[in-house]
Amino acid sequence: MSYVSEVLANVIAKNPGETEFHQAAKEVLEALEPVVEKHPEYRKNALLERLTEPDRQIMFRVPWIDDKGVPHVNRGFRVQFNNAIGPYKGGLRLHPSVNLGIIKFLGFEQIFKNSLTGLPIGGGKGGSDFDPKGKSDREVFEFCRSFMTELYKYIGADVDVPAGDIGTGAREIGYMYGTYKKITGLYEGVLTGKGLSYGGSLARTEATGYGLVYLTEEMLKAHGSSLKGKTVAVSGAGNVAIYAVEKAYALGAKPVTMSDSTGWIYDPDGIDLKAVKEIKEVKRGRLSEYKAFRPKSEYSTSGHVWQVKCDVALPCATQNELNLDDAKALVKNKVTAVAEGANMPTTPEATEYLIKSGVLFAPGKAANAGGVATSALEMSQNSQRLNWTFEEVDAKLHGIMVGIYRQAAAAAEEYGHKDNLVYGANIAGFTKVANAMLAQGIQ
Ligand code: NDP
Repeated sequence: MSYVSEVLANVIAKNPGETEFHQAAKEVLEALEPVVEKHPEYRKNALLERLTEPDRQIMFRVPWIDDKGVPHVNRGFRVQFNNAIGPYKGGLRLHPSVNLGIIKFLGFEQIFKNSLTGLPIGGGKGGSDFDPKGKSDREVFEFCRSFMTELYKYIGADVDVPAGDIGTGAREIGYMYGTYKKITGLYEGVLTGKGLSYGGSLARTEATGYGLVYLTEEMLKAHGSSLKGKTVAVSGAGNVAIYAVEKAYALGAKPVTMSDSTGWIYDPDGIDLKAVKEIKEVKRGRLSEYKAFRPKSEYSTSGHVWQVKCDVALPCATQNELNLDDAKALVKNKVTAVAEGANMPTTPEATEYLIKSGVLFAPGKAANAGGVATSALEMSQNSQRLNWTFEEVDAKLHGIMVGIYRQAAAAAEEYGHKDNLVYGANIAGFTKVANAMLAQGIQ
């Protein structure tokens, strides 16, 4: 049995039922097969065993009281996966589907993504099965305060710096930051995604979506093409999707779809982003309201955006939202590139099919790393007690995304998988962390 198969079998046996974590571990470890073969020192130092076991996983009770006076209990999580190259860093997901396996898959992915940014940040992730949807501001505040009343013990500007993710936006970060400050008395950059008036960074809101499009453009450029004039299918209508659509327009493309958890829209004339921002960012509403802004558009609750003819597909909602049938539909419609804005949105079978069909494919850990990279830039600004301009941050983000593409492409080529960024991103992200772990001894 190969070293990778041995470790993978052990991960599955030791973490029963954590299917998303198994899926992420399998994808990463299988890509590392040629690297561990070339470097026997990794096996000698139990590197993969240590890498797949989080430094610690914290689970806690989050009690809160709703507007009717009824108490509720949610479960909070923080998985501190690996801090070989810097403090733990990764978002907090608030969604009813959240469980330990999902947080561990996200935390594990985060190690390699953060490494790829070239910035000194380790990997972690957290969240809760709390659903902020339909809750009043007071209820969300109650939850956030209760959540942070426990979480504050484990985080700090040089220890672990959480951020937003699904369900955790500026409002939630604000409530959590206020609670952290109240309990500890510290005004420090312990969370990122903060409001601009209290330590947030310009361009952080836009960063993941913009970064995704910068990387997609770089990938197309390397193959003699560009986004200009391309039709783009986007899923999701949250933070990542909205700013991916905005930047895609800026580079001359035409985004024609978006989706939320109840349905999706197709607007053949191009998405009216102002309308989507009004519905999602201002009113926290549903995409079913879009037709009122654009009568010629279509709204559907069955099927998926991937049925629509497009040149480029950007899945930006959630994990496993693009399956093999979707991939077949995309290929049939002659898609040329798929870049993941969400974390692990493409199932392994779909990824394999797309790559085999000659579609350029950028995995999330490379393509959506712009968010965490800009979070790290927010940490730098907080440490310096300075604010950089939008243009400064955006230029750094662009440079980082181009760098990620080049690193991943070079690593893929070095190990005989030219143009396969799944291999490239995993190998490049892994190598830096692995070497830091080797240098620090068996800890
Ligand atoms: P948001 O909560 O802002 O938006 C998520 C969007 O996806 C919403 O439109 C939501 O629909 C939809 N969605 C969420 N869950 C499901 C589901 N189970 N089925 C169908 N649709 C769903 O989150 P973000 O945009 O921040 O995050 C999207 C993805 O990008 C996630 O995978 C996240 O981990 C990843 N990511 C985010 C980063 C960031 O900086 N924000 C950084 C890197 C990765 P609805 O409107 O109905 O809730």
